[in-house]
Amino acid sequence: MRKIKQVLIARYLGVFMGLVSCSLAGILNAQNNDSLIIQRIVAEANQNSQLTTLAHELLDVIGPRLVGSPKMQQANNWAVAKYKGWGIDSRNEKWGEWRGWDRGISHIDLVYPRVKSLEGMQLAWSPSTNGKAVTAETIIVPDLADSVAFDKWLPAVKGKFVLISMNQPTGRPDYNWTEFATKESFDKMKQQRAAQTEAWRKRIAKTGYTARTLPLALEKAGALGIVMSNWSQGFGVNKIFSAYTKKVPTIDISLEDYGLVYRLTENSQKPKMSIRAESKEMGMVPTFNTIAEIKGTEKPDEYVMLSAHFDSWDGASGATDNGTGTFTMMEAMRILKKLYPNPKRTILVGHWGSEEQGLNGSRAFVEDHPEIVKGLQALFNQDNGTGRVSSISGQGFLNSYSYIGKWLSKVPDSVRSHITTSFPGSPGAGGSDFASFVAAGAPAFSLSSLSWSYGNYTWHTNRDTYDKIVFDDLRNNVILTAVLAYLASEDPTTTSRERSILPVNPRTGEPGQWPEVRKATRKGGVD
Ligand SMILES: [Zn+2]
Repeated sequence: MRKIKQVLIARYLGVFMGLVSCSLAGILNAQNNDSLIIQRIVAEANQNSQLTTLAHELLDVIGPRLVGSPKMQQANNWAVAKYKGWGIDSRNEKWGEWRGWDRGISHIDLVYPRVKSLEGMQLAWSPSTNGKAVTAETIIVPDLADSVAFDKWLPAVKGKFVLISMNQPTGRPDYNWTEFATKESFDKMKQQRAAQTEAWRKRIAKTGYTARTLPLALEKAGALGIVMSNWSQGFGVNKIFSAYTKKVPTIDISLEDYGLVYRLTENSQKPKMSIRAESKEMGMVPTFNTIAEIKGTEKPDEYVMLSAHFDSWDGASGATDNGTGTFTMMEAMRILKKLYPNPKRTILVGHWGSEEQGLNGSRAFVEDHPEIVKGLQALFNQDNGTGRVSSISGQGFLNSYSYIGKWLSKVPDSVRSHITTSFPGSPGAGGSDFASFVAAGAPAFSLSSLSWSYGNYTWHTNRDTYDKIVFDDLRNNVILTAVLAYLASEDPTTTSRERSILPVNPRTGEPGQWPEVRKATRKGGVD
């Protein structure tokens, strides 16, 4: 025992002396340099933040960024111009094409038995009302025995607006019931709601159509529009996705207004609505990723990549999905260019198109740039809202604990203290763009943030707007991202891609499989 220890000590001293003679000074220097640059990053992020300007220009002036819309293209051009203004090389890279559509106004009114303007909008890619308002009575999809009975009923929709969503029994979110209801009352409501939801599911199933094909069948039978309400289980929030109709508009209205029209219809008050939906079909249009780059000086063919999807749904302005990820990456790039203009490795940022339809921009990039995937030192993606980063997973890479842990140890405590890590973690198969790189075996990570009620209140809703941004948390994330990018770039060692053995899937009993690389949809929005 003792002997071995002596040998070890001698060896240790030998190594130590060697270090002193050649590079201990160098290491100490590098450490001092690290902490100096990190201090300067923190100061720049806090004292010269450009986040509110970026948010105003993108969210308020340009607005939502639906794939194929002129707004998306405008945003791509805006980002390139921003980067050029900061002296950073930037370009839009075409990766495919999509059905182009430009959202116009949606004006929706109840005009009988009383007048009330209704809160709502056409869904993405909805057909327009051809420059005029259309006024019609409403009808509810009935509860019939089967598809034969439904087909027999179908002609009744001719010349009407058809209500296809369940009327929610309460417009109060569950947390509000939890706070104020008696337990009996809350339980009763939940039971009723569950029964009603199941009955509505059966009602739609018995038509013989699905959520996707029913609007088309109604349109074919002469309906003048489809009216729905996709409540997001919070006060004032609905999710706004895409229309399935080809000729008549599909609109979503608020829970409150939908309930009003539904009850009037149900009680034979013969309500009438007036809908004016404007939009433009643009044919197939090219789609782009915006890429920006600070060239590496020592290892230009190794890459540290920042990543956030740029597109959004268009019910609001895509502030937290994914304006906030976008601003974080842009601001981190600005700061890195200013304080660390000659990185060891090349620092890239990818602002992806069409994440929302299946990670298309980043999947295309992985296909189109094998050299970058091969040389990827690390990628950091952020895409789950405005919150400060609270967790990082090693995505199944066996040695990720070592390099992520090493980099995080140098992140300022005020930022690191909010973060929990899990190593090796398991490889993400989807959810956001890091997964496109993980599937290809490249070390890509998600900077996962606190929710701030993301799921119900902002994710794909009509309320995902500027005011939901928590700028203090964003500044925190900018510091984290810039520091991680700096450290990953400077790291003397190249990161390991060794994969961990994945646990057996308890459902199937089969060994866990690494997710497969999936192809981008390069031509979207067409049947
Ligand atoms: Zn997103």
